[in-house]
Amino acid sequence: MQPSILQETEFVTFLRSINPGSEKVLAEVPALDIPGIDRVIATARSSWPSWKSQSIKERQKLLAAVQYLLEDRKQQIAELIAMEQGKPVAEAISAEIVPCLAILKYLHRNAHKILRSERIHHEMILFAHKQSYYRWEPYGVVGVISPWNFPFSVPLPQIAAALVTGNTVVFKPSPQAILVAQAIVSLFQDAGFPDEVVQLAPVADADAPYFASHPGIDKILFTGSTAVGKKVMAEAAESVKSVVLELGGKDAAIVAADADIRRAAKGIVWGALFGSGQVCASVERVYVEKAVADQFIKACLDEIAQIKVGDPLDANTDMGPLSNLQQLEKVLLHIDDAVAKGARLLYGGKRLDGPGYFLLPALLVDVDHTMKVMWEETFGPVLAIMVVDDVETAIGMANDSIYGLTAFGWTRSRRLAGRLMEELQAGTVMINDATSTWGEPLAPWTGLKQSGLGHTRSPYGLLEMVQLKYVSYDAGRNRSNLWWFPYGGTAKEIMTHATGLLYAREIRERLRALFRLLTFKRFILSMHWPAVIKKLHKLY
Ligand code: NAD
Repeated sequence: MQPSILQETEFVTFLRSINPGSEKVLAEVPALDIPGIDRVIATARSSWPSWKSQSIKERQKLLAAVQYLLEDRKQQIAELIAMEQGKPVAEAISAEIVPCLAILKYLHRNAHKILRSERIHHEMILFAHKQSYYRWEPYGVVGVISPWNFPFSVPLPQIAAALVTGNTVVFKPSPQAILVAQAIVSLFQDAGFPDEVVQLAPVADADAPYFASHPGIDKILFTGSTAVGKKVMAEAAESVKSVVLELGGKDAAIVAADADIRRAAKGIVWGALFGSGQVCASVERVYVEKAVADQFIKACLDEIAQIKVGDPLDANTDMGPLSNLQQLEKVLLHIDDAVAKGARLLYGGKRLDGPGYFLLPALLVDVDHTMKVMWEETFGPVLAIMVVDDVETAIGMANDSIYGLTAFGWTRSRRLAGRLMEELQAGTVMINDATSTWGEPLAPWTGLKQSGLGHTRSPYGLLEMVQLKYVSYDAGRNRSNLWWFPYGGTAKEIMTHATGLLYAREIRERLRALFRLLTFKRFILSMHWPAVIKKLHKLY
């Protein structure tokens, strides 16, 4: 008997997209069940051989088409991001669309150069006659798992890099950003990428471990919290798949006494509060030298007081709502914890009346490292400022964290800038600016300590999408190699003299070893003399 539609739908889980500005449901999208996940991954697997056999130039052409289509659709996509995730449209364009356009352009112009096979000039003189290469091979099926805070510019560059290198992609977005995810997949498919090569996998959180541990996926690109990243690493271990993890941060800014205080305050307030502070690389903690602390705090207060919180679709809005209620509650908890432990709330920190998850940005001072706001990822519009005696203390405090994503220094001194670049423990260190490396295709996105593993973006991120293969060609002109069977009594002596020839300290010893070797027929017959003579310099 056929099951009724009612029975079938009884078991469907829906992913609900909610507008954080109005709390209204934007859409409900059915999630894949377990057989559905299997089906999508099987499709990606079966389409891989023909996809990887296409030339990289053809794949680059398709990426160029995605770039032009995104340029056409930028306004509607930016508005969708504003509605579903909550960042103002101007920010959706600057922080989500522009970085993607820049990376698409970089990849379709340069990927073939980065992935070119490279001829090896052998170190070992015995192999001088061989033609060997480093080659880059795609993994197969890449699973992209992404968060809700940058629903567009986190996954799109990863998907683009995975596709251009010849992988097929199954994209599991955050359930909270499912409409933006649909827009991403449509971009690729409408630009000409075959549907089966780039697929959306709407998966509920309960089934996410099944997805991440699926043996049909060869590599996982995960972006999200450190807590979930650890689980993904364990899930991926089941089938020994490679992972790239882009995780949480607790990014510090140091303001030195010689800094341009007005610029520092402006840059740090923006770096802490854009995206409502829901940015992995937000400025979450500030250490300011006491000589300029009052001046800096006052300048930050002036900046924060000007920020307009409101509808992200309104062009005058600087800061939209937080993306979800859970995040809003976590941020309020961090503020309460800090105040209960003695911090002073100089501004904001209150939820606004009416629908939507709006919060007035908070400015906290008199904070210390006993407070959650200084050591746990807050991920909200909170600027916490701690006054320190000197830069030395500030560096120690900044490094006192399990995280190491980005860090920022504000100083006029080139020398101090150099010291901060060297000593701050973070994947990215910026001086006199905040977080803008997101817009640079050549800047790798990478975290130290528990902020991540591996890279995305930049040539290094592209190389994460491929595995290194070593290929070696020998025309096979000699009947036998020196070190093959039978050893027959002479092999031991030949090997002993050969190491003398290659590695002895004194030239005299080397020459003696060479003359001894020349007395062995086995040695004479197995050497590829023209190639060896060309590489004689390798002997020294
Ligand atoms: P999250 O860790 O809760 O979820 C991330 C993704 O993992 C989602 O798609 C979720 O559905 C999925 N997921 C949940 N459980 C899973 C499991 N057991 N196995 C596999 N996948 C699972 O993160 P979030 O709340 O969506 O995003 C915020 C976090 O992301 C913050 O910690 C932020 O710092 C981090 N983030 C990091 C970067 C970076 O580049 N380093 C960028 C953006 C966001």
